[in-house]
Amino acid sequence: MRLVFLGPPGAGKGTVAALLDDRLRVMHLSSGDMLREAVRRGDPLGQEANQYMKAGTLVPDQLVTGLVLRHLEGVEPRESFVLDGFPRTVEQAQASDEALAGRGQAPIDRAINFEIAPKTVVERLVGRRICQRCGIIYHVTRIPPRRASFCDRCGGPLKARTDDKPETILKRLAVYHEQTEPLLAFYRAQGKLRVLSGEYPIQEQYETLMDLLKKEQLVSDAG
Ligand code: AMP
Repeated sequence: MRLVFLGPPGAGKGTVAALLDDRLRVMHLSSGDMLREAVRRGDPLGQEANQYMKAGTLVPDQLVTGLVLRHLEGVEPRESFVLDGFPRTVEQAQASDEALAGRGQAPIDRAINFEIAPKTVVERLVGRRICQRCGIIYHVTRIPPRRASFCDRCGGPLKARTDDKPETILKRLAVYHEQTEPLLAFYRAQGKLRVLSGEYPIQEQYETLMDLLKKEQLVSDAG
């Protein structure tokens, strides 16, 4: 099963993808995580990408596509994965379709669009906290840790992302509408687009997705 998660920032894509990875061993591939890792390592790609990320704009296609496709090179031809935050432009989608086909890899089965109101996005991202050690995502009121500012799983410190500031969030939302929404038509034309509400609590979003994937026989009823 190969999925693409679409939808504005804060719609729950990363958290639902992490659950899929945890429970069904569907590999979670997040372009944002790959880029943040490149920034942390301080390599040239990371340094160049960082200026765009801080501004809330898209990192140029050739940088991101190269990075994500390099990660996909190590993936077995039929291994299940979910791409979270990639593709974000039609060019990226075309490049990944071509790369998968060119390497004899199974194609993307479905693109899931997480729909959410802008007001909810701002509330979620302003309260989002990430474990600096293991990457788990919390929210100060929706998914609070047991001990304030520390991860339940590994005890690592929790921090807000630097681009989760109100003015950058609004920029990222505008960029999403302008540059990523056209992708919906791309996947709709391929008959692969499905819609999920991002407004519900994460567990409900996950269960709704499971029902959808079972109905489409991408996940077995036992799964
Ligand atoms: P995310 O973690 O998905 O919210 O991504 C954080 C930031 O990384 C975005 O605001 C962009 O600057 C950059 N980014 C992540 N994925 C992509 C992508 N597929 N194309 C361009 N920029 C990206």
